[in-house]
Amino acid sequence: MVLKSFGVFGNPIKHSKSPLIHNACFITYAKRLGFLGHYHHLLLPLESDIKASFLNLGLCGANVTLPFKEKAFKACDRVKGIAKKCGSVNTLILENNELVGYNTDALGFYYTLKDTFKNALILGAGGSAKALACELLEQGLEVSVFNRSKEKLDFFKQLGCDIRSLEDLLESSFELIINTTSASLNNELPLAKELLKALFKNSKLAYDLMYNTSIFLDLAHSMGLEIQDGKDMLLMQASLSFEYFSHSKVSYKEALEIMQSVF
Ligand code: NDP
Repeated sequence: MVLKSFGVFGNPIKHSKSPLIHNACFITYAKRLGFLGHYHHLLLPLESDIKASFLNLGLCGANVTLPFKEKAFKACDRVKGIAKKCGSVNTLILENNELVGYNTDALGFYYTLKDTFKNALILGAGGSAKALACELLEQGLEVSVFNRSKEKLDFFKQLGCDIRSLEDLLESSFELIINTTSASLNNELPLAKELLKALFKNSKLAYDLMYNTSIFLDLAHSMGLEIQDGKDMLLMQASLSFEYFSHSKVSYKEALEIMQSVF
């Protein structure tokens, strides 16, 4: 059977569970796909050219994670779907010899919400924050954004989000609070503890994109708030990516079932 290579670009990348869940799908669906896909960790030096790396490695498809999603957007020959609006790409495939970029974080996140919300506060302004802001605005929520540094906020302002300062946060309440910062990776809170506690008091759900427990979620839970970690989103965005890798021969729902069984 023909072998095809796939992978996930990131730095660091060792922690990523993507090879586990994608390889399970490639093995399960090899016959239907007509090839056996092998999906690797791809540690990319920070200054690398993503398109050249993709082509030199002979890849047929790839995911992109921290900190390369915005760089991947610029590297593509063509960008499709919501990725065009959010300027951030997490899925790359070759279509007719062109490198095409998609973003499955946006819908992947939205599909994991079990309730409806009027408004949301996004903490952080990186690649995943852009994807979530685009999707939540499209779904009709009022979206506010806070980031510790100001440089990345213009994008969100132009999109139609409310940009919040620390002072604003003290006077506001949000039904959904999403931590898209990488603070949890270092066991840090994205905001001062007392401010977070005040925000959690009037909220319905605290969501952290990190797919383990975090001190952000521990704090929310200790205040009786409902919490959700990034595991469901990881599986959802991965299964949507797999549908692209399979050129729609495997639906995301079929891929999701396999991924859930091995995670
Ligand atoms: P980026 O590097 O693009 O953005 C990181 C953001 O976090 C920036 O806004 C940065 O602020 C902020 N930040 C970093 N450290 C701190 C800190 N100590 N306090 C406050 N803010 C901080 O990352 P991504 O958006 O790509 O990913 C962010 C997180 O989401 C990662 O943990 C990633 O693993 C996770 N993720 C999970 C997914 C899933 O499927 N579950 C999917 C996508 C992402 P500044 O601009 O000031 O530097």
